[in-house]
Amino acid sequence: MTIPNCPQCESEYAYEDGLNYVCPMCAHEWPINEEVEVVVIRDANGNPLQDGDTVSVIKDLKVKGSSSVIKQGTKVKNIKLVDPEDGHDIDCKIDGFGQIGLKSSVVKKI
Ligand SMILES: [Zn+2]
Repeated sequence: MTIPNCPQCESEYAYEDGLNYVCPMCAHEWPINEEVEVVVIRDANGNPLQDGDTVSVIKDLKVKGSSSVIKQGTKVKNIKLVDPEDGHDIDCKIDGFGQIGLKSSVVKKI
């Protein structure tokens, strides 16, 4: 488990002390919560993606099982984030292709 940055001063040097985290930079103390880490899906530029976002494809993508190619720059509206399957963590519909899975690493948020 990684120690979070201090919520008060953003210092990276907080450490665990019993049931609390302590920040040596500003002396802030806050309780350790066993929070479940939320997996953030990010686009090619590292921006977090959300359901309903519009993204564009950053490179030509071959469609499995067909000779079609999704061209670089194709806009994809209303994406849905899903549990990664084969690394495909975006579920979406593309005109002419229908329902398709994309990897977040090949799109960028518009
Ligand atoms: Zn601090």
